[in-house]
Amino acid sequence: MPELPEVEVLVRHLAPLVRKRTIQRAIVRRSRVIEPSTEEQFVKKLRGATFLELARRGKYLLFEMRAAKGQEFPLVGHLGMTVRMYLLPAKSPLPKHAAVVLEMGGENFVFEDTRYFGRMTLDDSAIAALGPEPLGEAFTAEYFQVALQRSSQAIKVKLLDQQLVAGVGNIYASEALFRAGISPRLAARRLKPLQVTRLRETIRQTLRDAIKRGSTVPLNYSGEGDRDGLFYFGSAPDAPDFYEERLQVYDRAGKPCRVCKTPIRRIVQGARSTFYCPQCQKA
Ligand SMILES: [Zn+2]
Repeated sequence: MPELPEVEVLVRHLAPLVRKRTIQRAIVRRSRVIEPSTEEQFVKKLRGATFLELARRGKYLLFEMRAAKGQEFPLVGHLGMTVRMYLLPAKSPLPKHAAVVLEMGGENFVFEDTRYFGRMTLDDSAIAALGPEPLGEAFTAEYFQVALQRSSQAIKVKLLDQQLVAGVGNIYASEALFRAGISPRLAARRLKPLQVTRLRETIRQTLRDAIKRGSTVPLNYSGEGDRDGLFYFGSAPDAPDFYEERLQVYDRAGKPCRVCKTPIRRIVQGARSTFYCPQCQKA
């Protein structure tokens, strides 16, 4: 499932492609992905609208739009599990799972989703509920410390709480805890101040590294191409398997820890898999 780094890479790629472009017509082929907007609202609002800017907030894409009549409004995208967003020449046939198509003259903006867990909606209430950006200034050690003190949940589970910090998901929560040497089972309020400081740093490092790496991987944003298991948009044919080598613990159950050779362990917390090294993450 895409997390903050994957969304950030996509936003950086898409922003210059859509900026200042005007939508002539919006077509909704799967109304589930625009919920809770209705098809009528969606199509009407986007007709003649212009993309002003594209930003990321947590795991959401935030398109800043200007309506044909002039007022600005948000269009919110979420990648779900299998979404791809890209531009396609208008004369190319639409893929089977194109859920939303925004016609922009010579090109179409395509929102493709094979499983329909993604979203492209006028409703921005999910954005308002998000906690601070982990790479932003509001995510201070003081803030993190106070927020964790109020929680008896296991730290791994707490890190997935988007109101605590926006954009960290299952993969990078496991990775950041490994780098910090903290057990995923430790109750959030039991972390010592030094552990909190260290974890804040490793969260930021882990995300920054993933963004950096994601920005260098040769990706295939549209059409066919093998998905590498992490990137929803698939790597280009013949690209090396970056997914395997970039992760320290995630999805490596039974394989030797890259630091101490102890087999990585998988446990289930809050119905999600957690991966960790029982030797390196004793604290
Ligand atoms: Zn280890």
